[in-house]
Amino acid sequence: MASVNIRFTKLFVNNEFVDSFSGKTFPTHNPATEQKIADVSEADKADVDLAVKAAKAAFARGSEWRNMDASARAKLINKLADLIDRDAKSLAALESLDNGKPLEDAVLEMLGSADVLRYYAGFCDKIHGNTIPSDGNQFAITRKEPIGVVGQIIPWNYPVPMAIWKWGPALAAGCTIVLKPAEQTPLTALELAALSKEAGFPKGVINVLNGFGPTCGAALAMHNDVRKICFTGSTEIGHKILEYSAKSNLKSVNLELGGKSPLVIFDDADLDEAVKIAHNAIFSNHGQNCCAGSRTFVQAGIYDEFVKRAAEMARDRKVGDPFKSGTQQGPQVDKPSLDKILRLVESGIKEGAKLEAGGKKIGNVGYFVEPTVFSNVKDDMSIAQEEIFGPVQSILKFNTLEEVIERANNTQYGLASGVITNNINNAMVFAQAVEAGSVWVNCYDAITPQTPFGGFKMSGLGRDLGKDSLSGYLETKTISIKLPCKN
Ligand code: ADP
Repeated sequence: MASVNIRFTKLFVNNEFVDSFSGKTFPTHNPATEQKIADVSEADKADVDLAVKAAKAAFARGSEWRNMDASARAKLINKLADLIDRDAKSLAALESLDNGKPLEDAVLEMLGSADVLRYYAGFCDKIHGNTIPSDGNQFAITRKEPIGVVGQIIPWNYPVPMAIWKWGPALAAGCTIVLKPAEQTPLTALELAALSKEAGFPKGVINVLNGFGPTCGAALAMHNDVRKICFTGSTEIGHKILEYSAKSNLKSVNLELGGKSPLVIFDDADLDEAVKIAHNAIFSNHGQNCCAGSRTFVQAGIYDEFVKRAAEMARDRKVGDPFKSGTQQGPQVDKPSLDKILRLVESGIKEGAKLEAGGKKIGNVGYFVEPTVFSNVKDDMSIAQEEIFGPVQSILKFNTLEEVIERANNTQYGLASGVITNNINNAMVFAQAVEAGSVWVNCYDAITPQTPFGGFKMSGLGRDLGKDSLSGYLETKTISIKLPCKN
């Protein structure tokens, strides 16, 4: 295993690394070895108050950040992107250590995150309002203004991309930030914080607090000086975030939540290609992906052959040390996660699904689980209903387009979906009828900086990425000026 340098473990407030008020720390572990990596400062309400105060001061009228030209803001964001590129390998190694994901995947996440920053940097000096032909003798314009201090609460599955998806638009809009990473993966966000200081962001613009959800996260979401909260995580906590907003200052809320995304494969598809797309749709990042293609619907004519090839592909997947070249799957992030996966696999067997591959924990040390494939999955089984968040492919059989649309939509979730076919009518009818924020046709996980990403139904509110995300960080102010005459 590569040696990884852990440079930062404290809270990042006002461009300084500081201890928490309580002096408390919590351990973070390597999921491949179950060994402790480091003790990290634990933020609570007092630390949230301090960080929000710093972010508020950085946002105050006349501050360096507020007085900065928009084009200069773009330069800072681009500089941060360059620094992430520069440090991509060391950031990736730290991520693999803390999260368990394969090093090669982690490097790609770093480079992709830098690209997200560059996409948003380009917006800084192109954010503007309109001139509006209002009724009456008045000259009406709109101004787009940053919403203010933004709280961001993120999960552990893609720690750096999740932070950057939220930093990019917030910074481009001119907001200031308090980020709370997930307690399972606290380390890389601290590196990003240090890079933001190196890039030259004024103090208080970016603050990072590690801590737990019900304490640090809740204090941030309840804070009356936080104007917006952006959350990625479970639907269960999404409900709470809305409650915190309602109970405090009605802050704007952006939610990116769970999913049970359907991937539909028609008879006419290229079978090899379809098996590969479906495999990656569920197994990438060990299935720890909110938009994972976790319900694979396959048309009856190719069902048996598809199942056979999907099981072979799962059995061939290389599971092991995330630092070893060629590893495709490392450990799951932690024990509760592993236990949930094993419990759901058990339920699949009990409820009558056919286990085609995998199904067991691997070894005694580390949270490794075999890539698992079930056939004969029925819509009402737990494995077809609950978000497993693990490497478990559930393959369901369907006959007609109308039937599969109905079954695909028969869920509380609506994050993503996919369809594989050479029939344009099937593709487009499905794409228009499916209740999901993304539809990938003949591909999956085609997530780019430019394209909005988010959920219908209980998968979320608002969007990450694209222009849509940026607008969520902006207020619209209408200025109407009375004139003596119309023209
Ligand atoms: P997961 O099940 O993927 O861990 P969670 O929704 O529990 O997803 O966690 C996502 C993020 O939300 C983490 O940063 C976590 O600390 C935070 N969180 C958990 N509970 C709360 C809460 N009650 N209030 C605010 N944030 C929370």
